[in-house]
Amino acid sequence: MANGDKRDYYEVLEVHRNASDTEIKKAYRKMAVKYHPDRNPGDKQAEENFKEVSEAYEVLSDPQKRAQYDQFGHAGLNGAGFNGAGFGFGAGTPFGDIFGDIFGDIFGGGRQQRRGRRGDDLLYNLEISFEEAAFGVESKIEVPYNKRCGTCGGSGAKPGTEPKVCPTCRGAGQVRFQQGYFSVSRTCSHCNGEGRVIESPCGTCRGTGSVRDTKTMSVKIPAGVETGNRLKLSGEGGQGTKGGVNGDLYVAISVRPHPVFSRDNNDVICEIPISFVQAALGTEIQIPTLDGRLNLKIPEGTQSGKVFRLRDKGIPVLQGYGRGDQLVIIKVETPVNLNKKQRELLEEFAKIGGEEIYPMKKSFFDKVVDLFS
Ligand SMILES: [Zn+2]
Ligand SMILES: [Zn+2]
Repeated sequence: MANGDKRDYYEVLEVHRNASDTEIKKAYRKMAVKYHPDRNPGDKQAEENFKEVSEAYEVLSDPQKRAQYDQFGHAGLNGAGFNGAGFGFGAGTPFGDIFGDIFGDIFGGGRQQRRGRRGDDLLYNLEISFEEAAFGVESKIEVPYNKRCGTCGGSGAKPGTEPKVCPTCRGAGQVRFQQGYFSVSRTCSHCNGEGRVIESPCGTCRGTGSVRDTKTMSVKIPAGVETGNRLKLSGEGGQGTKGGVNGDLYVAISVRPHPVFSRDNNDVICEIPISFVQAALGTEIQIPTLDGRLNLKIPEGTQSGKVFRLRDKGIPVLQGYGRGDQLVIIKVETPVNLNKKQRELLEEFAKIGGEEIYPMKKSFFDKVVDLFS
């Protein structure tokens, strides 16, 4: 299905955009029960709906995916990669896991226990400058993480010994029992679901299979990111132990404020003060842009608040083509601390100035006169 055909996930689950995790879970549960294939045998439409709500839930129940979806919509979830350091969600949550979480108690389990212990997901907060956010940057980061123990290779067992198959679950990690009509499985408490038990723990990691370490990595931040964006580096989190897969590393971007620029989507906003003389007579001023200085012609009679749009001088579109614009907002500055000479000149100027040089003022007071006549 093309992205354009996809319904909004919030709409699918009939929840608010700011619904809580509990509300989302509740909504999903209600709909999934309604459309579940067991309740609608042979009903193609129900099957489609079931898939749709499951997909919506998969995204909205995962804080990272949800943030990504809120930011970029369906396009944010496609993982049009940045060589592995992308915004994609490569691995994703296997459907079985979600299903198990929610239906474990209703339909009697079915959750597949993954062998081993998955590494932790890590979050790294990276602060970058306005310009780096605009044009992208390659950043070196130091990440503390759990590394697979080198002594035991992550098994947790003392070298020369092997973890034993758990006698309680016979290595399955799960034990099954009958509850009413259902056969229910539960995580084996003897081995904590690992299927193996360690009789002689490794001295280095004390049987955990991992040790604390720090790694230095280089992260490519794509052009156009902004505060709140997260990059996912699959498999770069804590290392899995006992045969488990690695966790993921999330790099959360925060952009430092710029002294003269601010940002509105992909447009750069810059307020430029000019004197009332420059505004009245017209002038040419130098303005800062992301690409360096640029001359801007201010026509005579320019009013305060006037906006000049400089095409394609803004921020490159994240994961897309083209750039935003730069908006230059003119602020006419009223002079302060006048000396005697300046004051006299202005007073003289006021005496000879007729009201036709102030069209806005004239029009306003004409309207006020009409109001009270
Ligand atoms: Zn070890
Ligand atoms: Zn067991």
